[in-house]
Amino acid sequence: MSSTRNPTLLHPPFSRALFPAAALLPLVALLPAPGLAKAEHEGFERFEFSLPRMGTMARIELYAADRARATTAAAAAFDRLEALEQILSDYREDSELTILSREGASAPHAVSPELFFVLDRSLYFSRLSGGAFDVTIGPVVQLWREARRAGKLPDSAALARAKAVVGYQNVVLDPTNRTVFLKRAGMKLDLGAIAKGYAADQALELLRSRGISSALVALGGELALGAPPPDKTGWRVVIGSADASRSAAPCTLVVHNVALSTSGDGEQFLDLNGKRYSHVINPASGAALQGRASTTVIAPDGTTADALATAISVLPVRDGIRLAESQRGVSALIVRKTERGWQHFTSRGFPRPCREMLN
Ligand code: ADP
Ligand code: MG
Repeated sequence: MSSTRNPTLLHPPFSRALFPAAALLPLVALLPAPGLAKAEHEGFERFEFSLPRMGTMARIELYAADRARATTAAAAAFDRLEALEQILSDYREDSELTILSREGASAPHAVSPELFFVLDRSLYFSRLSGGAFDVTIGPVVQLWREARRAGKLPDSAALARAKAVVGYQNVVLDPTNRTVFLKRAGMKLDLGAIAKGYAADQALELLRSRGISSALVALGGELALGAPPPDKTGWRVVIGSADASRSAAPCTLVVHNVALSTSGDGEQFLDLNGKRYSHVINPASGAALQGRASTTVIAPDGTTADALATAISVLPVRDGIRLAESQRGVSALIVRKTERGWQHFTSRGFPRPCREMLN
């Protein structure tokens, strides 16, 4: 574990990328925010830690009175992330999620409170997005993952078979007994579009429970922000334009106690015959999204931001904007490349400086 005092940049070029991305969209960076009068938090120091967790490099930044306190709290937060990965990972053969996918179709299967909560939220976002977000997408994701590895498109018959068992309506949750029942054999759950946001929330909550409220947790494209750094009004988050040819300066948000999530084609994709296939799937067709695009969502918590960034990526722009505007405290920036070049769309609630800069 390392502790540094360097300025930080939220930009996930590492992790499970199979093909290096030319550019990540949009560029989201963190800078020191404007200061308030000092005194009150005199002696608080900034500490930064990073370790691989949840298929990416997890980064924690926090303010504490001394190194010992900072290190113990960060270690506990990383332990929490490791425990959550063991519950929610669809890569691990022995995770609770994998076991549920294997056994949940024969009888209702008792699960941990964490898994139950994430599945409950997942079904909520599935209904809200009309199925654009769907955690039963697992069998289709599997085929596209193999396609990325092999460098060729999935077989269409196999894709049709996989798609036949996709459907969030076939997940039955029983809150009284905390069980999950999968109505169809062959179903496979994939929390890749919501687990990192939830985990970031949980790590932040753990730090808070240890008295560290000025903290941020970054997990790939997910960013959960706590109370402002001491003597600051918030965390400065910089959102750059996707279009490198634009001369406009990036816009800066100063925010706290919110989460940001960016979902896009920047990190994992398949490039074939001049077409780029994203790792996000449209559950209606079973097809990977195509074209250059990214969605940034600001929400009260990481679980919501993560799920909605994926859902909005799948939806047509107008529906995505409408979805963001229907949720309290949620706003979205959608970036898509069309024949007319890069286009930016923002929902009504998106912070004004960015709306003006991008539109
Ligand atoms: P990232 O993992 O880069 O943050 P997302 O949050 O958009 O990106 O999650 C993408 C992952 O979610 C995919 O790798 C896959 O595992 C899963 N997934 C893909 N399409 C969907 C979808 N329509 N609904 C729910 N999960 C999806
Ligand atoms: Mg997501």
